Amino acid sequence: MSANVIQAGGPVNPGFGIYFLSDFATLAPQTAANMFRETVSAKKARLKKIIARLDQTYPRAQCALTHANPLELLVATILSAQCTDRRVNLVTETLFKKYRSAEDYANAPVAELEQAIRSTGFYKNKARHIQAACRDIVEKHGGNVPRTMDDLLQLQGVGRKTANVVLGNAFGLNAGVVVDTHVARVSCRLGLTGQCAPEKIESDLMGLVPQRQWTLFSHWLIWHGRGRCHARKPDCAHCELLRLCRRIGVKEPSLPLKAGSNPGKGLLGFCR
Ligand code: SF4
Repeated sequence: MSANVIQAGGPVNPGFGIYFLSDFATLAPQTAANMFRETVSAKKARLKKIIARLDQTYPRAQCALTHANPLELLVATILSAQCTDRRVNLVTETLFKKYRSAEDYANAPVAELEQAIRSTGFYKNKARHIQAACRDIVEKHGGNVPRTMDDLLQLQGVGRKTANVVLGNAFGLNAGVVVDTHVARVSCRLGLTGQCAPEKIESDLMGLVPQRQWTLFSHWLIWHGRGRCHARKPDCAHCELLRLCRRIGVKEPSLPLKAGSNPGKGLLGFCR
């Protein structure tokens, strides 16, 4: 193998010793994929290092939705669907002053609530979900947001992701792993899951990540997905996790290329 290729590709450790990307350049794709099969214990050992790097990189990772109590977080999370956290925080700054209890939301004229949250998009559905959830909270839970997964999932318009956000960040309970678009993308690229459905990704992550870190782990991946592992163009060249990442599905080279250079098919092929 040439020194050039080693430098460009960097060593990877699939759990059975150190290999270089160029070692796989001449293998059939299936053979190369098989060589990257990882035992659960090897994956957990790699994940332990990933977690240490994430903790070091994002020591202040936390929920980006501004909230002062479980109800505010529940509402903010419903509003955050297909919307940036920044926009949600702008809207809730006013919204939370006007609507202070589940009863306030439940009894509000729907047109008024829709207008108040309009700029978050899909405002008609979101208003409907907020009101339905708040009616359930008033009627079945005495006006208090329930603090168990089962009870939260019984609320209309509340799915597992929203329930996990509320339990983990408002109640400090690690009941599951929040799987949003960033967590799904980054955990797939890291090779921590081969699943596509959020609930299956969550199940894989719950089997690997220590329970006490479930909430924090999703914050780390969300921050990493926003800052480094972008959907369209992941910044692998500067990534803190490069040496620990299997870059599943990533076609870009892991180091910046010189103008006019060709990374070579073998270098990129195994990551597809
Ligand atoms: S190395 Fe690339 S694909 Fe892997 S986590 Fe970093 S940015 Fe994402």
